[in-house]
Amino acid sequence: EERNNNDAHHFFKLILIGDSAVGKSNLLSRFCHNKFTLEFNSTVGVEFTTKTLIIDGTPIMAQIWDASGHTKARAITDAYYRGAHGALLVYDVTRHITFVNTQKWLADLRNHADPNMVVTLVGNKSDVRQSVMVLTEVGKSFAEKESLYFVETSALRATHVEKAFVDLVANIYRNQI
Ligand code: GDP
Ligand code: MG
Repeated sequence: EERNNNDAHHFFKLILIGDSAVGKSNLLSRFCHNKFTLEFNSTVGVEFTTKTLIIDGTPIMAQIWDASGHTKARAITDAYYRGAHGALLVYDVTRHITFVNTQKWLADLRNHADPNMVVTLVGNKSDVRQSVMVLTEVGKSFAEKESLYFVETSALRATHVEKAFVDLVANIYRNQI
């Protein structure tokens, strides 16, 4: 039986996409390091973090890519999408435009990524109850229409963050076997 250095039998590339300041970097740092930052540090370029998850008893190494929303250069976007098995398409439930723009992100994804890619629509900042502009039902029905998984998260309160990543990896894994 063949094993790599990390003892993971499977390797999945995941990407975070969505408008600037929706919380992509904080979802990643919450998931990987249990950290959250209040300041908005616009991600410069592309970074990735790896984390090994156990799904159905099987170790899976997830390599999660995070890019700034300003990465418009096609060569960078292509490299970003290339070989990705899954994506978290994130919007901010308090800013309606970021939800509208998920349509554009999805079109870009479908133009440049593997058609079998598993995508989860993520409505982040669910902690800011008083200024919700995108209702859960609206997000959910858009996800259903587009055949996406759906979850609402709060990187601030660590609500459903683990679930968003783990379910995505589990769905990719279960699609493959
Ligand atoms: P990115 O540009 O998509 O990577 O967004 P960031 O992760 O840098 O977050 C942008 C801003 O939103 C920062 O000021 C964060 O503190 C804030 N933020 C991120 N996630 C949440 C959340 O779940 N709830 C709240 N209230 N603020 C958040
Ligand atoms: Mg960022």
